[in-house]
Amino acid sequence: VALRRRTIGRRGLLPDTHAHLDAAEFDGDRDAVVARARAAGVTRILAVATNLASCRTTVSIAAETDSVFAAVGLHPTEASRWEDEADGICAVLDAPNVVAIGEIGLDFVRGAASREKQLTVFRTQLGWAEERGLPVSVHNRGADDDLLRVLGDYSVRVVLHCFSGSLSFAEAALARGYALSFAGNITFPRADVLREVAARVPDDRLLLETDSPVLAPQPWRGRRNEPAYERATLETLASVRSAVPDVLQGILTENADRVFHWGTA
Ligand SMILES: [Zn+2]
Repeated sequence: VALRRRTIGRRGLLPDTHAHLDAAEFDGDRDAVVARARAAGVTRILAVATNLASCRTTVSIAAETDSVFAAVGLHPTEASRWEDEADGICAVLDAPNVVAIGEIGLDFVRGAASREKQLTVFRTQLGWAEERGLPVSVHNRGADDDLLRVLGDYSVRVVLHCFSGSLSFAEAALARGYALSFAGNITFPRADVLREVAARVPDDRLLLETDSPVLAPQPWRGRRNEPAYERATLETLASVRSAVPDVLQGILTENADRVFHWGTA
């Protein structure tokens, strides 16, 4: 069994459950970025949109690229676009390869729109996810209480993307059945608290992502991030959990398949 796991591990099946492949940072070499991801074993990427133009680009990237799937939605920091863009975003929800609604959520730190406005935008998109049986990739900044309260009103599979919260918030989210997705910031030297949280999440609630093009893990910190770099984050996650990377990779793959229903390679 160990030998088989090792072979599977080398071949890949390490999913990146949150990457902004439509970002302008990738305009010059997007195909090469995806090819490098594949060579590094990152054979499933959830490309996550942030506004209407981003949704359209993301859906077309997913249509053209084997290992890429799409999440469409309006990011909370873009909530002021809602009136102009909601219908257009709703129209791409049923495009092929759309496996999630995202990036949606609440941002009370950087978000320009009011709390009330963000709550309305978030709720409507959660309703879209519930109607379609799609999971949600959720952004949270400074909104722990509102986030849990609102999510509690919907029956959806929830992924808390780039989890950076406290242990008590993690425990509340886990009690609800949510998945926690960790990103490259768990590799940063001062992220001890976050690593402690990442060490405690049960196997079946754990996801891994890059949040490319931002949050490059050590040793690429500060540079453009890309899905291929996820291996470095996997190594850190394995080490804090005292897990064998290849085995952890298998667990992450099973979890992502279960959440996103995107099948196996
Ligand atoms: Zn994101």
